[in-house]
Amino acid sequence: MKVSENLARINEKIEKACQRAGRSRGDVEIIAVTKYVTTERAKEALEAGIQHLGENRDDGLLAKYEALGNRPVWHFIGTLQTRKVKNIIDKVSYIHSLDRLSLAEEIEKRAAKLDKEINCFIQVNVSGEESKHGMAPGQVADFVRKLKEFPHIRVVGLMTMAPLTEDQDVIRRTFRGLKQLQQDIESLHLDYAPCRELSMGMSNDFEIAVEEGATFVRIGTALVG
Ligand SMILES: *Cc1c(COP(=O)(O)O)cnc(C)c1O
Repeated sequence: MKVSENLARINEKIEKACQRAGRSRGDVEIIAVTKYVTTERAKEALEAGIQHLGENRDDGLLAKYEALGNRPVWHFIGTLQTRKVKNIIDKVSYIHSLDRLSLAEEIEKRAAKLDKEINCFIQVNVSGEESKHGMAPGQVADFVRKLKEFPHIRVVGLMTMAPLTEDQDVIRRTFRGLKQLQQDIESLHLDYAPCRELSMGMSNDFEIAVEEGATFVRIGTALVG
């Protein structure tokens, strides 16, 4: 399938989900997750009109960055080892997986050297599955307060992954939980943590995510796979 055909189908589904939820289509950005595919395929996504690319490994990001440079807006969406931060920090605009203080310290140190502000999502383990990365919901507010000491980190929002299940209610509840928490953090009115964005929804659950308020959906398989 051409990326443009996949994109047309996905756009239609997002449009309809927005209508069901009384949201504006302009409030939802698609991140094409290119971790499984070639640079050529990533380029095809850009040509189809995608502006945001997401990678979950530093080597994958580096390989594609070499070919595509700053043409896309780069998102780092995967678990990030502290020692890998230096490899990606000059290339990405967004990190979706901030989930611990040691990682924040490293991002701050590296971003300060570049005099660059990094947009970060706090990754939250809303569903509480043991296998999932991310911070427990109850820890997020305290963590965000601590980030005041990190002037190169801007907390733009929260990110989660729903459980792999056919049960739509479980998925919906996860996204709804993230939205609730996002509103709690936003209402703290911290200038370094506007926290207006919600990064949630993948190939098999992005429509539910959009209905529940996603502002960034991260789509791999259904778009470029
Ligand atoms: C791989 C990945 C995605 C995209 O997954 P698909 O199911 O292929 O759409 C989204 N978010 C994260 C964090 C990922 O690792």
